[in-house]
Amino acid sequence: MIPPRFEYAAPKSLQEAVGLLNGRGGDAKVLAGGQSMIPLLKLRLAAPALLVDINRIPGLDYLRESDGFLRIGSLTRVAALGGSRLLQKKYGAIHDASLAIADPLVRNLGTVGGNISHGDPSNDLPAVALAMGAQFAATGASGERSIRAEDFFVDTFATALAHDEILTEVRVPVPPPRSGGAYLKVEQKVADFATAGVAVQITMGRGSECERVGIGITGAGPTAIKAKKAEEAMLGKKPTDASAAAEAAELAAGASSPTSDIRGTVDYKRALIRLLVTRGLARANERARRGA
Ligand SMILES: Cc1cc2nc3c(=O)[nH]c(=O)nc-3n(C[C@H](O)[C@H](O)[C@H](O)COP(=O)(O)OP(=O)(O)OC[C@H]3O[C@@H](n4cnc5c(N)ncnc54)[C@H](O)[C@@H]3O)c2cc1C
Repeated sequence: MIPPRFEYAAPKSLQEAVGLLNGRGGDAKVLAGGQSMIPLLKLRLAAPALLVDINRIPGLDYLRESDGFLRIGSLTRVAALGGSRLLQKKYGAIHDASLAIADPLVRNLGTVGGNISHGDPSNDLPAVALAMGAQFAATGASGERSIRAEDFFVDTFATALAHDEILTEVRVPVPPPRSGGAYLKVEQKVADFATAGVAVQITMGRGSECERVGIGITGAGPTAIKAKKAEEAMLGKKPTDASAAAEAAELAAGASSPTSDIRGTVDYKRALIRLLVTRGLARANERARRGA
């Protein structure tokens, strides 16, 4: 498939990139890893007049903890998340999700910023960001602002980013002691998008009751979903409390709005969400207990 004609720019600074986007009034798109953008162009589902390639902008590829946050630069490749000992040890949900995304070729090119900014409800990182209470830094013509993950995913392929804003950093609060997280995904075949996926992040108090709970759902609605009622149902309960977990699983399934498609029926997908919430709580609990 041959994409429509477009102009191409490869700015070397954020300001230059924002200026280029701003100058086209919505008819320009950012190009990061290209793993979603290039297929859209080839299928002629997108036809921007200008592609602004941000890969030559320095300082957007990093992963570090500072000032209470894990900070992930938007040009960090998904493969770098999978190879991180820090994530494996302290950010299990992000680590799990990064290994569940597509295949090594896509993970080598696809970026964290692109996975989030694309606003695809089937992408894996948005649900993790919702479960972990992440924020996104975005730079536009009027400077930088911070957007909470729960305010970011507006509709399918639509986010809170303005047409001239570039997502620069994902900020995940450093989990307190006795925290653990997990991301579980069911896919129809290896390297596929999720039939359903669930991210769980918990912090336990001294009596092993949940003090903080985050639950995000992939592939079951127009956007990634934060299952707030399910989160609340687990507060003050032990993750091993089977009836509390079953209630949370039911509430999460109720918060979802999957559609029937080649990957399964609505009932099947809701059943998967129930199962993945229960298993996610169990895995997050194991990791919280061993300090992972
Ligand atoms: C075969 C295949 C299988 C896949 N399977 C999965 C999967 O299982 N799970 C999953 O999560 N993903 C999957 N993906 C999608 C993949 O993870 C993409 O890489 C990701 O969705 C987009 O990241 P990118 O860096 O390639 O962005 P691009 O394709 O370059 O851009 C995607 C969109 O985001 C915008 N954008 C990118 N970066 C920024 C930024 N910093 N600021 C503002 N806007 C930006 C672009 O303008 C564009 O609209 C798959 C892709 C392929 C090709």
